[in-house]
Amino acid sequence: MARLALVTGGTRGIGAAIARRLAADGLRVAVNYRGNEAAARDFARDSGLALYRWDVSDHQACLDGVRAIERDLGQPVEVLVNNAGITRDAMLHKMSLEQWREVMQDDLDALFHMCGAVIEGMRGRGWGRIVNISSVNGQKGQFGQTNYSAAKAGVIGFTKALALESARKGVTVNAVAPGYTDTDMLAGIDAQVLDGIKAQIPVGRLGRPEEIAHAVSFLVDERAAFVTGATIAVNGGQYLA
Ligand code: NDP
Repeated sequence: MARLALVTGGTRGIGAAIARRLAADGLRVAVNYRGNEAAARDFARDSGLALYRWDVSDHQACLDGVRAIERDLGQPVEVLVNNAGITRDAMLHKMSLEQWREVMQDDLDALFHMCGAVIEGMRGRGWGRIVNISSVNGQKGQFGQTNYSAAKAGVIGFTKALALESARKGVTVNAVAPGYTDTDMLAGIDAQVLDGIKAQIPVGRLGRPEEIAHAVSFLVDERAAFVTGATIAVNGGQYLA
């Protein structure tokens, strides 16, 4: 039977491309989202994938969500892609506690919630794949993003630590750090600022969601068993870690 993958924040942008790619690779795919019903409806109609609504910053909701998927689809989640994430940009001296907390909860706490929901099962079965979506801005820092840069750097540290804990159990844990990618997340960025960002990308353009999905597809493949604790940068050469 095909393994079951779960992609958080998988109804739009990078997550939607990952979900489609893993389905095309032959995996069974369940998709989580938070609340944009219109986007979820469109995605469900086009992709035919099973959708589950909950907020990954809510610990209990993550445990319940994973159990519901496993019960409905009759098999365990063996591949987890932690993709859901948000930005709440402001310079630190103008950042509210709420902006700080929202980003830490969505982008970092969610990894504890989601990995915690699946890791014991993966360890017990002796096989698993976890891919966490970080960001180039977690690697290099970014003006106006102390919250996001801290959370996404945290994603990399979390990934390395869990990779060490899981290595003997057949579970790989890796991160993908996308550069600027053409999704709704960039919609709030001023056009002039975005032109300045593009000018700093050696490849000369934004990334495409499918290009991020390609790295995830590699990492969850059966043949990637010797790759763990790694962070794959997919950033058009913008930052060479
Ligand atoms: P989008 O804003 O296009 O889509 C975000 C997706 O995540 C949506 O499906 C949204 O659900 C879901 N989501 C957000 N918060 C939650 C939550 N708390 N619970 C459940 N679902 C949630 O984002 P991108 O595709 O651009 O980004 C995907 C990931 O890639 C993020 O982690 C982001 O930080 C990272 N990234 C993006 C870059 C870019 O340039 N786009 C660059 C580097 C990293 P809903 O539709 O219901 O709101």
